[in-house]
Amino acid sequence: MWPLGRPRHGARDSYEACISRTREITRRTRLRAAADAVEAAGEAYRLGAAAGSLHALRPEEFQIPGIGQDEKAVTWVYENGMVKGGPGRAIYDELMASPKHGQCPLCGHGIVSQLDHFMPKSSYPALCVDPLNLIPACSDCNKTKGDTKATRAEELPLHPYFDDIDSEPWLAARVIHEDGSVRLEFYVSPPDSWDQVLTDRARNHFRLFNLRKTYALQANWYIGEIRGRLRGILTRGGADAVRAELLEGADSSLSERPNSWIGVTYRSLAEDSAFCEGAFGA
Ligand SMILES: [Zn+2]
Repeated sequence: MWPLGRPRHGARDSYEACISRTREITRRTRLRAAADAVEAAGEAYRLGAAAGSLHALRPEEFQIPGIGQDEKAVTWVYENGMVKGGPGRAIYDELMASPKHGQCPLCGHGIVSQLDHFMPKSSYPALCVDPLNLIPACSDCNKTKGDTKATRAEELPLHPYFDDIDSEPWLAARVIHEDGSVRLEFYVSPPDSWDQVLTDRARNHFRLFNLRKTYALQANWYIGEIRGRLRGILTRGGADAVRAELLEGADSSLSERPNSWIGVTYRSLAEDSAFCEGAFGA
């Protein structure tokens, strides 16, 4: 949901770093012999990601040649070569450190704690250490996504290295007043430049990662945090002063990130007359 700069290491560099400390000679020879195929798999993946057609990649074309599925190629290459240490671990650490403020790019809220394989390593072992297939993510997003595989373009989650959707506003919220309380309901409001597939992908992403609930919980907590301050502003300057305060908050957040839930919270509250007139909830 939030774009990340692309990693500087390519599929082959990363693979070679990860297998470089394999001691057992037969295994090392077979893994090395597969480097061309792994590089080609990385290129096919890169093209598919750029075209939004990763759902069409066939697992049988992304195996590591010479290595049977029962031989645990992923354990040798990813677990031993990248997670546990050695030259591959440096690439792992670099990927983990790339999101600003350690924020998960899939939800924009959680803290990065692991790498998610965009295409599952169980089905696509040739991509198991391809940096473009490794998304730094929070544990909730990684767990939620699991090994789910899209079968249609609309089902592909947004890809932080390929889908730059943060240049335009798309996150919106409704203000709901109910029994003296106030809460926000977030939704995807697609800009005119999006086609139907991108709109469906964003909505599926929102649903898959439970962002409606996550942002609502955060926003509703945040309203509680600012309520006292707004009461004071209302007493001193009336509804217009409250609106101005909220708009200032919106400008500050949204200029930093056009789809920040805090910025959208401020903007939605500023546009709600009842809220500005004092219906701050309890
Ligand atoms: Zn997350």
